[in-house]
Amino acid sequence: MISARAHIAGMAPYALAQMDPPDGHPLISLAQNESLRPPSPAVRDATAAIDHAAYPDPDWTGLRNSIADLHGLDPATVLCGAGSLDLIGCLARAYAGPDRAVLAPAHAYPFFRSAAQMAEARFDTAPEDNTTVSVDALLASIRPDTGLVFLANPGNPTGTRISGSEIRILRDALPDNVLLVIDEAYGEFADAVDDRLFDLVSHGDTVVLRTFSKAYGLAGLRVGWGSFPPDIAAELRKIMNPNNVPTIAQVAAEAALLDQPYMRDTCALISVIRAKAARRLSAVGIETQESFANFLLLEFKTSDTAQSANMALQSQGIFLRAQSGAGLPHCLRMTIGPAEHVDRAVAALEHWAAEAPS
Ligand SMILES: *Cc1c(COP(=O)(O)O)cnc(C)c1O
Repeated sequence: MISARAHIAGMAPYALAQMDPPDGHPLISLAQNESLRPPSPAVRDATAAIDHAAYPDPDWTGLRNSIADLHGLDPATVLCGAGSLDLIGCLARAYAGPDRAVLAPAHAYPFFRSAAQMAEARFDTAPEDNTTVSVDALLASIRPDTGLVFLANPGNPTGTRISGSEIRILRDALPDNVLLVIDEAYGEFADAVDDRLFDLVSHGDTVVLRTFSKAYGLAGLRVGWGSFPPDIAAELRKIMNPNNVPTIAQVAAEAALLDQPYMRDTCALISVIRAKAARRLSAVGIETQESFANFLLLEFKTSDTAQSANMALQSQGIFLRAQSGAGLPHCLRMTIGPAEHVDRAVAALEHWAAEAPS
C-alpha cells in the first residue's frame, strides 16, 4: 500500500454536516449557513447563455472589476477562489508550514485547523472571552515561530464580532512577519455596523477574505474572493489552480454583486427572523450571544443537554450543527433559514425544553 505523507495520513477528514432525516420526515437543514433564499433573479438571466466548452477567464476580469468598484479597491489586489476555502487553503500552503505555526481564537472556524494541518503547520489557539475574540489573548499567544493568524469576523460558529478598531490594534501589535488573515465570510451581515478593513491590506501584511456563499446565496457555485497585498497575490497565483472559478460561477457572482438591494434585503430578512428566534429560545432557557451572522449559537447548560436537544430535533428531520469541533460541545449552531424552518426548529426546542429538565 502506498501511504500519504505522515501529516496527511494523520489528519481527520474535514467534518461536514451529517444529515439523514428519519423515514417520513423531510430534511430541514439549518446546518450549513446557506442563504435562506435563492440568489438574486439577476443571476438566472445572466447565466442563461454561457459557453461551457471554453475555459473560464483565469483573471475573473468582470467579477474582480465589479468587486473592486463596489468596495473601492484596486482590481489588482483582488483574487477569486473556488469558495473562500480555496483561498484559505492556498494561504496556509504558502505562508504556514513546519517552521511557521498558525494561530487562531479558541472557537474559530474549524477549517483553519485543517488548513494548518494540510500545510504541516502547528495549530495554536488563544482563549476567547466567553465566545468573543480577545485581542489581548491572541497577542499573548504569539510565539517566535507564529507565521499566520486566522481571524473570522464575525466568527463562525460564535456569531460574535470585534470592532474594526480592535482589529487595527491587533494588527499594529502583531510582528511585521506575521500574516493576518481576516475572514469576513459574514462581513455583509455586519457591514452596517462598523467600518471596513480593506485599507489594512495596503500595509502589506494583512489579507481580507469574503465569499458569495452566505449573504449572496451562491454556496453551490463556489466563489470567494479576497483583497491581497501585491506580493502575496503574486505568490498565491503560483499555487492556485489556474482556472479555479467556472465561467457560470463568475458570471453569477457578478450579477449577484450588482444587485445590492436584493442582498441587503436578504440580510434584513435574516436579522428579523434571527431576533425573533433568539427571544423565543431565551424564554425557554436556551441562551444566545448577539449574532452578526446568518446563524445563532445556542448555548445549553451542558454538552449532554445539547446532545439531547440535537437528538430531539434530528428525530423530526431538523438538523442543526453540533459544535464540539470548535470546542463548544454544549452548543448547537442554528442557521437562520426560511422563517417556517426556523419556526419548526424553535417550536421543537420549546417542546424539548418543556419535557427535559435542564
Ligand atoms: C462558510 C465559511 C467559509 C467558506 O466559504 P466558501 O466561500 O463557501 O468556501 C469561510 N469562512 C467562514 C468563517 C465560513 O463560515
